[in-house]
Amino acid sequence: MGTRVAVVGSGPAGFYAADALLKSEDPPVEVDLIERLPTPWGLVRLGVAPDHENIKAVSRAFERVAARPGFRLFGNVEVGRDVTHDELAAIYDAVIYSVGAQTDRQMGIPGEDLPGSWAATEFVAWYNGHPDFQDLEFDLSGTTVVVVGNGNVAIDVARMLALTAEELAPTDTTDPAIDAINGAGIEEIVMLGRRGPAQAAFTPPELQELGELAGADVHVAPADLELDPASEAALEQDRDRARRNVDILREYSTRPTASGKTRAIRLRFLTSPVAIVGEGKVEAVEVVRNRLETDERGRIVAVPTDERETIPCGIVFRSVGYKGVPIPGVVFDERTGTIPNEHGRVEPGLYVAGWIKRGPSGVIGTNKKDATETVGLVLEDARAGLLSHESDEGLDEVLRRKGVEFVEYPGWEAIDAAERAAGEPRGRPRVKLTAWQELLDAARAGAPS
Ligand SMILES: Cc1cc2nc3c(=O)[nH]c(=O)nc-3n(C[C@H](O)[C@H](O)[C@H](O)COP(=O)(O)OP(=O)(O)OC[C@H]3O[C@@H](n4cnc5c(N)ncnc54)[C@H](O)[C@@H]3O)c2cc1C
Repeated sequence: MGTRVAVVGSGPAGFYAADALLKSEDPPVEVDLIERLPTPWGLVRLGVAPDHENIKAVSRAFERVAARPGFRLFGNVEVGRDVTHDELAAIYDAVIYSVGAQTDRQMGIPGEDLPGSWAATEFVAWYNGHPDFQDLEFDLSGTTVVVVGNGNVAIDVARMLALTAEELAPTDTTDPAIDAINGAGIEEIVMLGRRGPAQAAFTPPELQELGELAGADVHVAPADLELDPASEAALEQDRDRARRNVDILREYSTRPTASGKTRAIRLRFLTSPVAIVGEGKVEAVEVVRNRLETDERGRIVAVPTDERETIPCGIVFRSVGYKGVPIPGVVFDERTGTIPNEHGRVEPGLYVAGWIKRGPSGVIGTNKKDATETVGLVLEDARAGLLSHESDEGLDEVLRRKGVEFVEYPGWEAIDAAERAAGEPRGRPRVKLTAWQELLDAARAGAPS
């Protein structure tokens, strides 16, 4: 028998880690991929925007990993609830956590918890069909939506809200989300960036796409694009992202204000929310105008001025960062929201990959290099004789003893087939199953008897 490794979390980091492990010949490795949902792929299924089908297609590479000998999926198994870290440590020579960043950061301003103030993650999980988020009700009847944040997730949320019925129809957005977006009263989506256009975290292709929507215009005030000397200098150093972003924004600022499209996306910079206000629900966001300063560490930071403004709106989505959550029995750094590690090694036998290792940054592909680095250390420790397991029981035996129903790869394939079959006649890649029971029922149809 080869080295037994548990990889916890089946997002990109988990699959890239499994891939690198299964390619090893010295030592040969068997991988059990443990996932709390009945479905794999993490944010590729439940985060990446449904109108970006080409990005979601990375899952084909993950399917090839799952087909390798020595791979086994244990879906519907949550570490910390269904099985403990200590139990895994007894069964496996090594455990790699690739559990992502499961919660969002708060803004820390008054009114943040008013009804109508949402984490962007909740909305994203809802429109993508995450089974834990289907009971949420988003009131999109107001004319103005505020999206706080200047990253690609904020752009995803703004764009999804601006898509037309024709743009949404061929996607795997859930039906309730399609109905809600189509029926929304939205006229204006305001995106707020704390710092200037040169500091925005979004990437040029995503920014460019906002300017190509069928049903929404994009607006930027020319005054927001006036750069301070420090930002000008920064542009010279970041020609790929910041320079291209600013060029795109400058082009947007020259566009005519009215083109007959029904929705508008307004990108605002140097603006931070200071309070969310309303009687029992969100009615407005109070914002402050910032200016930029260079701090003692050389970073360009936003400093509030006295200039305030109130933006009436019916709903707020905050997209100001993600944060990992602890796994019971595993060390955790509350401040960074990650499991402390050195290049992916916490200690011999315990490792991390992906967002729980380095924090919530980077694109899907970033996780490949990251996970490969971690696996290099697992294999190094295995070859050095540092890894061992105490129990010869398999995870399947432990779970059966505990009465935990798990979804294996054929179960997921049955879910996948059912979803694709439902999508096909409607010209959609899939119609997702979004209730736990539906998912488990479909998985049972594919379970080996
Ligand atoms: C809204 C959004 C849109 C994005 N869009 C893009 C894009 O278009 N292009 C791009 O390149 N990148 C995009 N990204 C970034 C990309 O999704 C991440 O880089 C990547 O998913 C991180 O991989 P991960 O494996 O660390 O985490 P995740 O993908 O989050 O996977 C973690 C997995 O662990 C599971 N898990 C968590 N806790 C447990 C537990 N206790 N037990 C068992 N399983 C557990 C989760 O259910 C999940 O499946 C986007 C991110 C977000 C949030």
